Amino acid sequence: VTVSAKPVRVRFAPSPTGYLHVGGARTAIFNWLFARRHRGTFVLRIEDTDVERSTRESETALVDDLHWLGIDWEEGPDVGGPLGPYRQSERIERYRGHARAFVDAGLAYSCFCSDELLRRKREEAEQAGTAPRYDGACRNLSAGDVEARRKQGVAEAIRFKVPDEVVRIDDLVRGQVELASDTVGDFVLIRSNGHPTYNFAAVVDDHAMGITHVLRGEEHLPNTLRQVLVYRALGADAPEFGHLPLILAEDRSKLSKRHAASSVGDLKRLGFLPEAVVNYLVLLGWSHPEGKELLSIDDMVGAFSIERVNRSAAVYDGKKLTWMNGQYIRKAPLDRLVAAAGPFLPPYVRSDYTPPAQREILDLLRDGVETLADLERASLPFRPSPPLDDEAKACVGAENSRRVLAALRVALAKAPDPVTANDFKATMKAIAKETSVGGQDLYFPVRAAITGSVHGPDLARVAAIKGKATVQASIDRALSIGRPA
Ligand code: GLU
Repeated sequence: VTVSAKPVRVRFAPSPTGYLHVGGARTAIFNWLFARRHRGTFVLRIEDTDVERSTRESETALVDDLHWLGIDWEEGPDVGGPLGPYRQSERIERYRGHARAFVDAGLAYSCFCSDELLRRKREEAEQAGTAPRYDGACRNLSAGDVEARRKQGVAEAIRFKVPDEVVRIDDLVRGQVELASDTVGDFVLIRSNGHPTYNFAAVVDDHAMGITHVLRGEEHLPNTLRQVLVYRALGADAPEFGHLPLILAEDRSKLSKRHAASSVGDLKRLGFLPEAVVNYLVLLGWSHPEGKELLSIDDMVGAFSIERVNRSAAVYDGKKLTWMNGQYIRKAPLDRLVAAAGPFLPPYVRSDYTPPAQREILDLLRDGVETLADLERASLPFRPSPPLDDEAKACVGAENSRRVLAALRVALAKAPDPVTANDFKATMKAIAKETSVGGQDLYFPVRAAITGSVHGPDLARVAAIKGKATVQASIDRALSIGRPA
């Protein structure tokens, strides 16, 4: 990669017409890592020239989602920067100026074809089985024709005169790519409503903002052809391009909004940690030189290179992402886990336990969950007086169980308060000796009484967190449930 001379400047340029999709997030992450790796600049540019579909809410949500992922930028609409404004809707005059200059230089022309006429021509082309591209009807209008139509008030767009040539790009990912310009007709630069098209505005801005590398999804290759032609018309060098492989769903269709958990917002709501999401997404099309899969941000920044981006499509595998999230939940610093997991704890945990007890609950439960949303179910043993499930009920009714619980009630009365996990273990040992009951016969009834189920997390830690009084009340309750009629 030729990143030697010029300092790297890359951008993420979302259109604020919806949520941040995992494909967009992957593009943002690759650009961000590339900037960080080369100590370059990462720019956020909002491509809001589609006035009907762009909203400020969507822009805010995109920015929030990027922040949630831990991505930051040096220049953007929220932080400013020397080459702003960074919202295309605030740069309209620049696009118009360049378009006028193109017209004056004979590189573009006014087009007065109505939407209705264009639609009809497209349909005719489709019926005839030919490529639906603009037929150049307005390419050779005389100055007089143009004046006459303007006087009649006919809506006027500006179209680019596509030259007849083959564009070759040396793609950072795909190598030599040839794009023949005869696959596209003269395309619109400025719509009749005065707004620029994406292919024009993106080039004007990438040029004005000094973008050195454009990393984006492979689906943009046909746009790259148009954009390279616009660069030439501007008399500017095109940046380097790297087209990232497509992301497919597990059914091998192109991943899209209709697939579950395919937006960053979905993943946030479903209880994924952003660190895990970033780690998973960076592996969609890139791999670490040593094949490492669990990567810190430092690992990624240290090892990221376009050379290791592959050409073949990546598959978005929810199971692997979930597995990876579980790994992150287990190794997260406890403070970090507490901050992320707070909103996922059920109301009874938040209201009935002190913050230090909630920390212990999380530390105990993190081994058994893959997402933070799993905490809802995993927290059930911590309900103040959990109802006993059928297995638990049958268990506490058994003869041996009743002896164990009765002995525990007595022994626990003598145990310290607050009771620690070690105190509780010692108490269990004592009653094992006293009753000559061991193993499951000893632990199952106690766990059933305290948590409502014979299965669950470490009993001594649960008992210590719930507290002596609550545990005693649970044992009394179990003895009364289990009493034979
Ligand atoms: N606004 C375009 C999009 O959202 C940007 C594509 C590009 O990176 O050039 O797809």
